[in-house]
Amino acid sequence: MTPSKTKGTLWHSLLISAALAVTLGEPDTAVAQEGMTVSPTMVRDRPRDVYYPNTEDLREDEMRVIACGTGMPTTRASQAAACFLVELGNGDKFIFDAGAGSAERISSLQIPYDFIDKVFISHLHADHFGALAELWIGGGLMGRQKPLRVWGPSGPTEDLGTAAAMNALKLVYRWDLAGRVGIVDFRGYGLEVNEFDYKGENAVVYEDNGVTIRSWPAIHSLDGPVSFSLEWNDLKFVFGGDTFPNTWFNEYAKDADLAIHEAFVAVPTMVSKMGFTPEQALLVGTQVHTAPEAFGKIMSEIQPRMAVAYHFFKDFDTTPAINDRIRTTYDGPLSLAEDFMVWNITEEDIRVRMAVVDEDTWSPALAGKAEPPGGDADRETFSENSGVPVDALNYSEFIISKKWDGVDEVLRGVYNEASEALGREFVYPGD
Ligand SMILES: [Zn+2]
Ligand SMILES: [Zn+2]
Repeated sequence: MTPSKTKGTLWHSLLISAALAVTLGEPDTAVAQEGMTVSPTMVRDRPRDVYYPNTEDLREDEMRVIACGTGMPTTRASQAAACFLVELGNGDKFIFDAGAGSAERISSLQIPYDFIDKVFISHLHADHFGALAELWIGGGLMGRQKPLRVWGPSGPTEDLGTAAAMNALKLVYRWDLAGRVGIVDFRGYGLEVNEFDYKGENAVVYEDNGVTIRSWPAIHSLDGPVSFSLEWNDLKFVFGGDTFPNTWFNEYAKDADLAIHEAFVAVPTMVSKMGFTPEQALLVGTQVHTAPEAFGKIMSEIQPRMAVAYHFFKDFDTTPAINDRIRTTYDGPLSLAEDFMVWNITEEDIRVRMAVVDEDTWSPALAGKAEPPGGDADRETFSENSGVPVDALNYSEFIISKKWDGVDEVLRGVYNEASEALGREFVYPGD
């Protein structure tokens, strides 16, 4: 059981006991707090301090942001690496970064995968796109019936850009795809790449359905990283990715409703917990990344409705240092992000809660009609596009010659069972 689940359960039981105390005192309809009627049967009338995925409609004018990863390249079970989901009241959803471990977080939100087809990558560090293949291939298997669309920056050379990385990814997973083509609905296994110039300054990289996404350069590791803003319905979401404090961010993140920016692990903690030398900790913690004190300076400069700090391990013994250091330079609204933190943003209010998720998820509902496997037609298309000969997309005689026919009888039984149950004939392969 992860900490988020434990916390959720605790919150849940507190809510239940509060409600119980009220109903016991007044069996019909009780008034819990001023102006709030509590029904003994209609539980959705009761206020919730947690977010249960699949239980709340998004208002037409509302933006919901969910942290699906807030951690580091050093992996841990309780915190995936960078990933934020933005859901809009017009139905659009966007993923900003897909760091290692974040695909499980996304799947536990039980959103049909057709709606999770747009990913924006801030830079090509593993903790910012390490889960992309899982979202791409796993998402196809979990019901996405369209290609995954990826946006990301160019680099100082062609080889160091997002398009080169995505083409390499397609090559890395060629065997995986070659083995699936023909036996699954292959519509979700496409990968569309949109590379844009990392030097664009507040440049529009996406515009559709009332949503505008802009990018500007970030200062981190090498040339290439960017920060993003998403504007819709007079609401502005900003995701800094990883960056040293810079004047682009100060200018283009202004007026953000939600401004997410890294605040790295405090330097002394890097020495004590990560085994860094002081020299290395100072360099990484203040020059490559943004120190908490510097994060506070930035937020004081841009004054968002809610500042969000991420990119540190959020533990009982590390969080106070981050908080105290931020508070030396910033006294505005602040969320210290952890996985499954949820922000509901409207013109009037920003509500911050934790999501309580079911970890034992299967595929969510499909957004469109399922299609049977594409068979040889899909194999031919794949062969044409990839250059893999069609012959290689089936077993060789060498491998197939040792298939054990001793199981045919029981497996034929499974086909017969399906034929009887569904009222149409499924022919056992080879019969
Ligand atoms: Zn990075
Ligand atoms: Zn990072």
